[in-house]
Parts: sequence; structure tokens; C-alpha cells
Amino acid sequence: DFQVELPKLKHDELGELSSAIQTLANDLARLKKERNEFLASVAHELSTPLTYLIGYTKVASRSDISEDERKHYLSILTEESERMKELVKNLLDLAKMDENSFSIMQETFWAKAYFLNILNLIRPSFQLKDMTVALKCPTDFQIYADPLRLEQIVLNLLDNAKKYSPVHTEVTVAVLQKGNNTIIAITDQGIGIPPDEIPFIFDKLYRVEKSRSRSLGGSGIGLSVVKELVEAHGGEIQVSSTLGRGSTFTITL
Ligand code: ADP
Repeated sequence: DFQVELPKLKHDELGELSSAIQTLANDLARLKKERNEFLASVAHELSTPLTYLIGYTKVASRSDISEDERKHYLSILTEESERMKELVKNLLDLAKMDENSFSIMQETFWAKAYFLNILNLIRPSFQLKDMTVALKCPTDFQIYADPLRLEQIVLNLLDNAKKYSPVHTEVTVAVLQKGNNTIIAITDQGIGIPPDEIPFIFDKLYRVEKSRSRSLGGSGIGLSVVKELVEAHGGEIQVSSTLGRGSTFTITL
């Protein structure tokens, strides 16, 4: 048996207390709703590539198809598996960032070889769309950053540049120094972003025209991870975009 002695509250104090409790209850309900939407979205994003993986594995293993067809199916399988890998990586990071158990390890490295390496990684998936990706970077230039995290930032932005661009277009990665800062600008000739949507695209789960990016395999997670990773470097990210013309994402480190 124990007793809790409650302080005697005056009438207006009681009112304050009950409105504070009401606010907490509303916050909880909102968080619960957001969590459910998030889980539904993630489950959907994982199930789409899985459906492809199962379907294309079946056709790729048939004996009555040509070698070219098999290669085509296998390249789709690789592409879809890569997409799943990136999504899972982003999700794990998002969880770590929320727990504040996230750290970056910065070091100095040569920029040109580093970016060429990243571009070579993604070039095959650009070729599937007949798109090209070019690098503009001085040879004698060093960067101070976390190489693994910066790669994740650039891969996320390049994946978007590819996803939201028509076939036969070009993406450019420009790296330069401005005073004490390193600037990395990724420019595409894609569909662009409506001006009134730009303030929200870095929010978790935000997608411009849900149906548009859904059909393109979007989850609304990529840019929020990019922004957190850039800010973990003490940097910032900006976007300028013209509808129907293309977008430039500029990172300042
Ligand atoms: P998603 O997984 O939907 O691509 P992101 O967080 O990466 O999620 O991007 C948020 C939204 O911003 C996307 O739904 C898309 O509409 C828009 N977006 C991002 N990058 C580009 C781009 N390069 N060109 C046009 N729209 C873009």
C-alpha cells in the first residue's frame, strides 16, 4: 500500500494540466499514424522489387529463351536487387539517426579518382536508360569528408537524377572549390520539381505527386537521408529546379 500525495491545484492550473495532456495525446496519435504510414510505405517499397525478383528469376531460368533475353532479365534482377539494397541501407541509417547513434569519420582524399569510381559503379544502370553521366572535377583536388557517407549521398542523388529523367538525357556531377568550401553539384535534364513542393522534398516520406514517384519506385526516404548525412558533415544542401527542364542539387561542405 502506498499513497501518492497530489498537490492541490487551483482551477486554472487544472485547466493548463488538462490541455497539456490533450496536446500529448494528440502528439501520440499523430506519431502512431505516421509510424503506420511509414511501415506501409516501406513494406510496399520492398514488395515491389521482390515481385520483380521472383518473376524474372523464373523467366531467366527457362531453357527456351535466347542468351540475349537471359542477359536482359539478369540485368533487371541486378538493378532491382541494388534498389532493395539501397533502400534497406537508407532505412538502417534513418533508424540510427533517430537513435542518435550515428557517427561520421572524415578524412582527406583525392576527389577525381573517388568520383570516377562512383560513376563507374552506376554507369550500367544509366545505360539501361540510354542515359549518360559525366564528371567535371579538377585533377589536383582533395576533399575532407566521410568517404562511405559521401558515396551514399551521391548515389542517392544520382539514383533520383536517373529516376526522374527521360531516356537519352545527361546527368553531370561537378566538383569544385569555393573559398574554404567544397561544392558538389548534380544536374539532370529531368522532369523538374514544382516550386511549391521544393520546401518539402527533404522531409521524411515526402513525395511530389505520390502516384508519379510511386510508379517510379520512390519511397520518399532518399532525400531525407541525404540531408541528414550532409548536415552530419556540417554541410548544407540546396536545390534549384525548373519544371520540364531539370534540377540541380548542390551540396556545400
Ligand atoms: P523518392 O524515393 O520518392 O524518390 P526522395 O526522398 O528521394 O524520395 O525524393 C522526394 C521527392 O522529390 C520525389 O518523390 C520526387 O518527386 C522529388 N525529386 C527528387 N529528386 C528529383 C529530381 N532529380 N528530379 C525531379 N524530382 C525529384
